[in-house]
Amino acid sequence: MRPLLKYLFLIVPLFLGSNVAEAQREVPVRVAEGLLRADSSLRRLWPGFWTEGPLVALYPAKGKTLVVHGPEVRLASVIEELRDAIPESLEGRATFVSDPGPPASYDLFAEIGGKAMVSVRVFGTFAPFRQHSEVVPWTGDSVATMIVTAVHESFHLYQWREFSPSPGQPMPFANTMPVKRHQSWLDSSWVQEALRRERTSLSRALRHTRCNHVQEELNHYTKQRDDRLFKMPSPFAAYENAHERAEGLANWIGYVGLSRVAPDMLSDADVMLQHDLANSYLGESGRPYTGWSSFATYHLYVVGAAKASLLSRCGPADWQRRVQAGESLQQVLLPR
Ligand SMILES: [Zn+2]
Repeated sequence: MRPLLKYLFLIVPLFLGSNVAEAQREVPVRVAEGLLRADSSLRRLWPGFWTEGPLVALYPAKGKTLVVHGPEVRLASVIEELRDAIPESLEGRATFVSDPGPPASYDLFAEIGGKAMVSVRVFGTFAPFRQHSEVVPWTGDSVATMIVTAVHESFHLYQWREFSPSPGQPMPFANTMPVKRHQSWLDSSWVQEALRRERTSLSRALRHTRCNHVQEELNHYTKQRDDRLFKMPSPFAAYENAHERAEGLANWIGYVGLSRVAPDMLSDADVMLQHDLANSYLGESGRPYTGWSSFATYHLYVVGAAKASLLSRCGPADWQRRVQAGESLQQVLLPR
């Protein structure tokens, strides 16, 4: 459930001219401030999501974990609060806690003080971005990536609690097993080419400003996708729909979250999606990735996020309710 980390890019550099050591110390505080600034806009992004505000644990390599939380949230008394260490900007909304134990990996869930929360590793080696307003790599140790990760994973927690299972799948998340048996299909050149054409169609749809043009492009996209799925083993359709709904949607929420929190880091989620649709399926040699995991990670995350963006702009008014109730993004995109 990791958001794309290695191959994402963002626009404006952070910490221009600031001292690296100082920036490193400030990272958890900056991430916390960003999440708190996002409060009201994240609540508007998806009904019911983020209503209590963030519940995120930022684990540094050394030192105390910073738990970012809503004003009403009280963590159980096992937690040692270090009130003096909290900067004024985080007063009442964040707590340093004594070592609650490390998260199992980079971005998993934790239970601290009786609350389920997202845990984000704050890297010890903080690298400031290059000082140009060019597209620069968005890496795991950037404030932007940590904000996206926290929002993305928080949305997964919301999906677990509130989303109905996907059709033909027992959970809101995609069951990979039926498709893994057929993964060699993903290496065939016609499938690779078909997936590339589908991403190009979605990229064109994102560029249209008028919804009737978006819909025409989506009809074209849907025909391409249907033709491909018709020739592929049947488990692919349910798998793709479920994975787009789980990960594509969380991917979009993470990008939009960042664009609302810090427009200086990402001006518009669609900028990132356009970049991903064009580039993120390519390996370092410029040749397409093949195989199972790249299809799941580099195609479906991005395609699902693009569909969510188009739905937010041109979809039916109740698209979020329908997706939450079990319909796929693809289904809701189609005119009734
Ligand atoms: Zn995820």
